[in-house]
Amino acid sequence: MSKAWQQRLADARAHRQQTDRWRTRQVAKSNTLDFAGNDYLGLAQDPRVSEAQAAGARRYGAGAGASHLVSGHLEAHDVLEEALARWTGRERALLFSTGYMANLGVLQALADRHTAIFQDRLNHASLIDGAALSGARSRRFHHRDAIDLESLLARSECAHKLVVSDGVFSMDGDVADIAALVEVSQQHSAWLMIDDAHGVGVLGDNGSGCVGSSWNSAEVPILVGTLGKALGTAGAFVAGDAALIDHLIQFSRSYIYTTAQPPAIAAATLTALEIVQSEPEHRTNLNTNIVYFRREALRVGLPLTTSVTPIQPLILGDEARTLHWAVQLRQKGVQVGAIRPPTVAKGEARLRITLSARHQEGDIDRLLEALAACQREEVACHANA
Ligand code: PMP
Repeated sequence: MSKAWQQRLADARAHRQQTDRWRTRQVAKSNTLDFAGNDYLGLAQDPRVSEAQAAGARRYGAGAGASHLVSGHLEAHDVLEEALARWTGRERALLFSTGYMANLGVLQALADRHTAIFQDRLNHASLIDGAALSGARSRRFHHRDAIDLESLLARSECAHKLVVSDGVFSMDGDVADIAALVEVSQQHSAWLMIDDAHGVGVLGDNGSGCVGSSWNSAEVPILVGTLGKALGTAGAFVAGDAALIDHLIQFSRSYIYTTAQPPAIAAATLTALEIVQSEPEHRTNLNTNIVYFRREALRVGLPLTTSVTPIQPLILGDEARTLHWAVQLRQKGVQVGAIRPPTVAKGEARLRITLSARHQEGDIDRLLEALAACQREEVACHANA
């Protein structure tokens, strides 16, 4: 092995040791309070969803056994796709095995080197990777800045333009300005793709997300949602006109060349979706928890952002400080995400705190107490230094 390769592996190893230590701690969780996951409505723990999954496995078996285009597309997938299309007010929906694969598959199938893709700077990694895979010319616009986007679009001479944004930004919790994106995209005859991974189930009147029933497919032609977050299961869907879905079925490589989502997961997701649509109280509980957490966190002087979604980052800046806080919290029985570069920009390391409808007020109090204790320890440390 050459020296250069040895060095590369050694660098990766040093980085991995840090990550592994952190991961081991996570696996060891027992009665820890989870403020790190994306199970915003608590549906991953809902016995009706688990039972639907068990019943699905008894009926269909443990796995799909093949890709969708061979023999892996079963009735449970079909029924779920139809329900997702109705929910989001789209003609059709198409299931993917993960959100990462959906984003890769959409961008690779729709864009090529004759396409210009315009992405919000804070878009999810899967959108950045999908654009790279497509071979399109990629530009990034300033976060939530429609004026910057408009100036990039105005300068582009590409015939095919595609604007891409997260719906709810995964590390910041703020929501894209869909109205502005629709307007600027239409002015420049660009297609608009919104990845509403963290919005579906949580936002919108019927939980259909920040796009769902509010914006039709002439306005937002490509809508992606994931199932492993508020819906509590796993997988993802793309919703849009029949022509879009037909195109993806023909050309989307991460749809074609992979085993279909286990049908039991599709069955569980259908039950989760029925709960989302018929029991708005979970969204009400979630919103009550968000308001309570924000009010109390501001009262004790924690550095909150303006996010009003379940994603409530505390930006601590320094990587070591963020990791230290997360470890301290873990020792106090509270788990939060410790998000560091390259996931976020240098100097913007943060605790990613997420709230769920399942949290009780007492759970949030425990989180707040633990955070306040970290703050006090830090102040004492500075005083002694
Ligand atoms: N898009 C966004 C905005 C996400 O946050 C994520 C997951 N963190 C994904 C896509 C990928 O979804 P999945 O976990 O289903 O691959």
